[in-house]
Amino acid sequence: MSLLITGGSGYIGSHTVVELFTVGQDVVVVDNLANSSTKSLERIEQITGKKPIFIEADICDKAAMENLFTSHDISAVIHFAGLKAVGESTQQPLSYYHNNVAGTVTLLEVMAKFNVKKLVFSSSATVYGDKNESPLVETMPTSATNPYGQTKLMVESILFDLAKSDPQWSIISLRYFNPIGAHKSGLIGENPNGIPNNLLPFVSQVAVGRLAALNVFGDDYDTVDGTGVRDYIHVVDLAKAHVQAVNALADLSGCTAINIGTGNGTSVLQIVDKFKEVSGADIPFNIRERRPGDIATVFAEAKLAQQLLGWQAELGLDEMISDTWRWQSNNPNGFE
Ligand code: NAD
Ligand code: UDP
Repeated sequence: MSLLITGGSGYIGSHTVVELFTVGQDVVVVDNLANSSTKSLERIEQITGKKPIFIEADICDKAAMENLFTSHDISAVIHFAGLKAVGESTQQPLSYYHNNVAGTVTLLEVMAKFNVKKLVFSSSATVYGDKNESPLVETMPTSATNPYGQTKLMVESILFDLAKSDPQWSIISLRYFNPIGAHKSGLIGENPNGIPNNLLPFVSQVAVGRLAALNVFGDDYDTVDGTGVRDYIHVVDLAKAHVQAVNALADLSGCTAINIGTGNGTSVLQIVDKFKEVSGADIPFNIRERRPGDIATVFAEAKLAQQLLGWQAELGLDEMISDTWRWQSNNPNGFE
């Protein structure tokens, strides 16, 4: 039996495949390569000695997905596939609703047809919206501030309804905080298209000389140094949370949302200082206006993951930044 990993050639998916191979789990990856390349799968083979079975297909393509379930014995699905750029989602909402919501519904229909009713879904801390105060707890009310966040909320609602309708479903929705870092081999890591939107890829491209200076979005928040605070989580810890979640599906029925964060907050300037220390590179920055939609502080209450998954983050900021730097300096142009 294999696990189906949608979006498995992307950033979090590729790290998760490595951890699944490490515990002896067979996988099938499906990806349409909209935001990744098969190079990451070759690198997985370099790290683990094993190459995942790869099917190039779109999760919205029902016939292709049925084909996949016919030709492979799938026990459960980890569903990463989706579009994830907040800004782009405000310009192309239909593309986000199509890929993230309609694509997930298609996947769930095919899973139901083939009686595969175990799922781990990639949700996000964005579902807590901008009204709750950190630490964010799974029981807090959810809301969305942009179409991307709305797609995560809509899919969570669909998953809760589905699990309620049929007790055979076992679903875990992992609400990721801010994944950063890379595998310690420096062979796989985050490889954004164009100018990065997220802090860490931007900082590392400044450090490596691809971008001139970081724009720090606001220094007048009510935080330790006025800059935004987030709960950064090492992508390898996050990948391990998926291994634990798949194991937990056997004992959990219904749909359960679980935060995956460290419970600690770090400011933008603390990230910049740590990156300078680790890389020895200069990181020039300019203070700019606050970014619309940003909030001052976001960090997780991380107890539920410990209780239900037996998981907690093990890697600290030093590893997150030094692994990001190793990946970026070994691969200044990503996988190209
Ligand atoms: P990524 O873009 O690196 O990986 C997503 C993968 O899905 C890509 O390889 C892409 O080609 C593929 N894909 C997209 N649409 C598809 C489709 N219709 N059919 C098949 N494949 C498709 O992103 P990531 O950072 O690895 O994120 C994985 C998941 O985690 C996403 O659902 C994202 O929304 C969620 N998430 C990410 C973050 C983050 O900061 N990286 C935070 C919270 C949640
Ligand atoms: N940020 C910044 N400059 C950038 C990108 C991000 O100052 O070029 C800040 C942003 O305002 C936030 C933090 O870094 O306080 C994390 O931003 P990111 O987009 O990585 O994650 P999110 O805000 O979605 O949690």
